[in-house]
Amino acid sequence: MEMSVSEKLKILGAGAKYDVSCASSGVSRKSGSGQTGSTVFSGLCHTFTEDGRCISLLKVLMSNKCRFNCAYCVNRAENDIPRASFTPRELADLTMEFYRRNYIEGLFLSSGVVGSPDNTMELMIKTVKILREEYRFGGYIHAKIIPGADERLAERMGRLCDRISINLEFASRRALKLLASDKSQTDIIGSMGSVTNRLLENAEERRKFKSAPPFAPAGQSTQLIIGATAERDYTIVRLAQALYKRLGMKRVYYSAYVPVVKHPDLPGRDTSPPLVREHRLYQADWLIRFYGFTPEDIFSDRDESLDLEVDPKISWALKHADFFPVEVNTADYYTLLRVPGIGQRTAQRIVQARRFSRLEDINLIKMGMVRRAFYFITVNGRFLGRCAPDNPALKFMLRDNNINCQITFDSLMSAKRLEDEGSAAGLISAVSASSPA
Ligand code: SF4
Repeated sequence: MEMSVSEKLKILGAGAKYDVSCASSGVSRKSGSGQTGSTVFSGLCHTFTEDGRCISLLKVLMSNKCRFNCAYCVNRAENDIPRASFTPRELADLTMEFYRRNYIEGLFLSSGVVGSPDNTMELMIKTVKILREEYRFGGYIHAKIIPGADERLAERMGRLCDRISINLEFASRRALKLLASDKSQTDIIGSMGSVTNRLLENAEERRKFKSAPPFAPAGQSTQLIIGATAERDYTIVRLAQALYKRLGMKRVYYSAYVPVVKHPDLPGRDTSPPLVREHRLYQADWLIRFYGFTPEDIFSDRDESLDLEVDPKISWALKHADFFPVEVNTADYYTLLRVPGIGQRTAQRIVQARRFSRLEDINLIKMGMVRRAFYFITVNGRFLGRCAPDNPALKFMLRDNNINCQITFDSLMSAKRLEDEGSAAGLISAVSASSPA
């Protein structure tokens, strides 16, 4: 008996939930006349599953029938599960219906390998073409490139989508060979390189001709599975850095391995997904992309695993106590960024505000500085932490669940008076107004 679309959706939505490489960013296409949907005000609509991962409301597979047999995947050929496939028309209609009902903002489309990688890509392209060309859908679309597919198909997909991604899955060639023998790391990196070249060419075309059609304007992303193999955090973070630097990757997503199938080379089914490790990797990734850290900074003592108890920035600060405290009224921007509790925006605000007057502690809190920073700074020569940065007890106080530890603010009252007089408040709002978003 023919399966209904809602039955297919149940199976194919569940089949896609372990892929975390979806987030909408970096694109600002407005809807034109006669178009439905826009990427301007929001991207994909996200929700959180029970196990804490972020998914979009229409995050589906074209099909969960798969010729490949990746050991870690619920859709692997040998797994005995209900199988289903959408036709391109069914999936395009479903997307539009959900969009019109305001359930979703876009589509994240992946698939098992149906017949061959090229055949699968053709089906996915057909779906996206119906959406873009027939229904004039202008919302966000992120599609996977199937490993091993012809480069020309990736090119066609990139013309239709906002973002495309190819999952690298593991940091080492050996792990991929062991657990996904149908895939080749050389091919995957080769495809990523072709997409990067195409993105660069397109940027050049669009610099010369504003009307040149865009190619994946939100760039490409990839996913690495964490905890299925013995790969160390240092290897993973170094790889991520190379992907950002050499391939211009927009995002590397880390997916804590969820044991969904029994396999002798994988952790047992009773193993919990390493979600804290996944979280720490995202924090390390952030430090590399926006805070000027290198993998060697983060893993400076050659310990190849991230500390799970505190975030990587605190971990670095505790190991480099001699770097602190830094004086907020004189430290340069990059030194401020090394202080736990001072983010990019706060560092920018501090640097700008110092042009007008010396800062007091209350100014810093208003600018968004988190209180744990007081353990690592001086304000006008005064240290306000309860213990020095090299105190072994500090790590305990700064653990995630203990970050509201007490700080002695002996200048709070005088700063409060400043605020009452309006000087601090005026200064802060002037700085906020002039800060970049
Ligand atoms: S190619 Fe591998 S990871 Fe992708 S659906 Fe098939 S078995 Fe799963």
